[in-house]
Amino acid sequence: MSMAEPEAAAKDSETLLSVRNLKKYFPISGGIFSRVVGHVKAVDGVSFDIYPGETLGLVGESGCGKTTTGRSVLRLLEPTSGSVRFEGRDILRLGHREMRSVRRQMQIIFQDPFGSLNPRMSVGQIIQEPLDVHKVGTPKEREERVKYLLDVVGLSSSHRRRFPHEFSGGQRQRIGIARALSLNPKLIVADEPVSALDVSIQSQVLNLLEDLQNEFGLTYLFIAHGLNVIRHISDRVGVMYLGVMVEMAHATEIYQGPLHPYTEALFSAIPVPNPTLRRERIILQGDVPSPVNPPSGCRFHTRCPIAQDTCGVQVPEWKESKPGHWVACHFR
Ligand code: SF4
Repeated sequence: MSMAEPEAAAKDSETLLSVRNLKKYFPISGGIFSRVVGHVKAVDGVSFDIYPGETLGLVGESGCGKTTTGRSVLRLLEPTSGSVRFEGRDILRLGHREMRSVRRQMQIIFQDPFGSLNPRMSVGQIIQEPLDVHKVGTPKEREERVKYLLDVVGLSSSHRRRFPHEFSGGQRQRIGIARALSLNPKLIVADEPVSALDVSIQSQVLNLLEDLQNEFGLTYLFIAHGLNVIRHISDRVGVMYLGVMVEMAHATEIYQGPLHPYTEALFSAIPVPNPTLRRERIILQGDVPSPVNPPSGCRFHTRCPIAQDTCGVQVPEWKESKPGHWVACHFR
């Protein structure tokens, strides 16, 4: 699949983040000498742009590479190859010191609000830690910022003396959000931020993230497997399958008229609110193949209901099938 220029019209100056041909392979060791005997190709040539102030949702089944993509663009995982341009600079070429200053602009919210918060630190210490590490302001100013951030995420400044175990899941995720906001970032990678929360709490946290985006002009790369969550929050949606992007378009467009057979099957599982509008559920046959040895040609050909002979041989081109609607399929 040619992924070099997914959005040909996009110029660097218009994008906040521009990812090209990103790959992340994890080595597999074996034998008595623990030699590398293969690689898990978790992300295998992914390209996309994110524009300032938007939310790009990344969706796909578990193991499709969306979380690895999110962590690789922040260099929390070191990519195998490709480029990640943030405000025009390829951050994969930056040394430790330069990367440290860029990191202030790029933060992450994790899925598990409990596991990501140090249980031995008070809430105030957790939120203040990034400010301490980057030596931002005086101690008094840092304390004031913590109080402000607690207020911004809907908690009380008195909560700063308490510890994570004293809070509910939703409150803990608010603490994680406050911490992510502490350095005033431009981009936030939200990695399944509501998946671990009760459904009743999910919408509160999603609304908070939307409010914060409006207030602070934040840009989100929002990763989730929940299709309704992605539809609720995203301006554009990218669909991943087995380490590659298979479709990308504006959220309304892709939900109303998916083009790729994988997206069609994925979205066919969403319940339709109007019972008179019946949508046929598409059940895919077989399991997702191994990312160690992905299928040749189109990676989806082993499960695709409309696959032809050429699909197993030729990698489909990543093309703009309609304005702003990109897809990798020979027949769409
Ligand atoms: Fe299916 Fe072929 Fe299109 Fe792949 S290229 S999605 S196998 S029709």
